Amino acid sequence: MNLPRTLGALRASAFPEQRLRNRRVKDELRENLIARLHANGRPERILPGIIGYDDTVVPQLVNAILSRHNFILLGLRGQAKSRILRALTELLDESTPFVAGCEIHDNPYAPICRRCTALVEREGDAAAIDYLSREERYVEKLATPDVTIADLIGDIDPIKAARGGHDLASEYTIHYGLLPRANRGIFAINELPDLAGKIQVGLFNIMQEGDVQIKGYPVRLPLDVALVFTANPEDYTARGKIVTPLKDRIGSEVRTHYPGSLQEGISITSQEAWQQRGDRALVVPQYVREIVEAIAFAAREDKRVDKRSGVSQRLPITCMENVISNAEQRAIRNREELVVARVGDIYAAMPAITGKLELEYEGEVRGADNVARELIRVAIARTYDSYFTGANMQQVVQWFDLGGEIKLASGAAAAEIVSAIKEIQGLGDKLGTLGVKSKDAPELQVAASEFILEGLHAHKRIGRSEERVFTAGEKPRRPESPVDREEPYRGRRSFN
Ligand SMILES: [Zn+2]
Repeated sequence: MNLPRTLGALRASAFPEQRLRNRRVKDELRENLIARLHANGRPERILPGIIGYDDTVVPQLVNAILSRHNFILLGLRGQAKSRILRALTELLDESTPFVAGCEIHDNPYAPICRRCTALVEREGDAAAIDYLSREERYVEKLATPDVTIADLIGDIDPIKAARGGHDLASEYTIHYGLLPRANRGIFAINELPDLAGKIQVGLFNIMQEGDVQIKGYPVRLPLDVALVFTANPEDYTARGKIVTPLKDRIGSEVRTHYPGSLQEGISITSQEAWQQRGDRALVVPQYVREIVEAIAFAAREDKRVDKRSGVSQRLPITCMENVISNAEQRAIRNREELVVARVGDIYAAMPAITGKLELEYEGEVRGADNVARELIRVAIARTYDSYFTGANMQQVVQWFDLGGEIKLASGAAAAEIVSAIKEIQGLGDKLGTLGVKSKDAPELQVAASEFILEGLHAHKRIGRSEERVFTAGEKPRRPESPVDREEPYRGRRSFN
């Protein structure tokens, strides 16, 4: 597209003064949102790639934007808060004209900085115009207690300021901070309560009056910014964490949540995890996807895991990536063409799990590795139940009780163990439930068989050593283990 390059050409273009002069960022977001609602009211088209929020978060966000509010997303870690904020750029114009060379992207029809006011006055319609893309209009900052006014709003040279006498504002040499640089765009602050009170006051002043004090000097900066925030709900509501006038200026509070159903979680994880790597054909069986997701659900319910920080959706995402990598590693080492993920790969993905769990004291005592291993086991038991509740596994269990043993090492080639697996009486018949037939690739048969054995092990009907040798079951030694209850899987209710 040939965009006008001077102010004169801009006047005669699709960006006439009448349209652009008083159109604030929030008006623009509103206009473009309305256009989308007209074209296709389906929530998933308004913020593409945001799954599971169609009936809860999205309608509230739409209202906040229609109301031209600054808003805050309140939610625990890994609830796609930053992703939602980034997706707002979709609601900005494709290109936005500004005075070329301006650090704060001044509106050509209404510049606020001293340089551009003078420039437009001097050059008139010949003033050069440049453009911002949508992405360039999004600025994000993670709040930390050491963020200063200089970082956020800017700094001035006090000597130059003092020399300016009474007409200070026109003489300032301001070194702009992040917020002015986000002028005419969206400015996102993550974890707002971590911002020092003094900085929150500065933010409020900018929002309210366009005035702020820098090193004691009043500076007028009537910025045009859509301010959006995120926070952990408990931090946000804690007394004294957010200065009241700022809280008062945040028009809408929108609560995010974890996926309401296992299926929604699986969809998010499938979208976000790096899966198709291009080198080899990959199969991640549905039961493996269900187990990986069920780990996060189990962790969110587990008393040993800190409820205030939550369990991020990044847990199943990174876990899935490691599961695939372990399967990939096995395929490469064994020169297999087909990569099929197995339950054993989930245990190998523990490094992607432990770091995502904030443990309570009880969990700390137990140790992160043990907690993770137990969560995997709970997830396996629930997933197994969803396929095999009521199935008669007596024959398989008996095979082990009669002294049968099999080693399913996580690195073992499928071709080498598939014949040994077929020796286990009664097991082959059950693979049909998982959609696996006896003429399917050995990788698929091994994976499905291993899932059934892991399921029986999770219910303590058969035993399994650290070296992944499956044997006859022993009397349960730890009857307090949560797996013993064999509870059917229950979906977590969303709280919105
Ligand atoms: Zn300027």
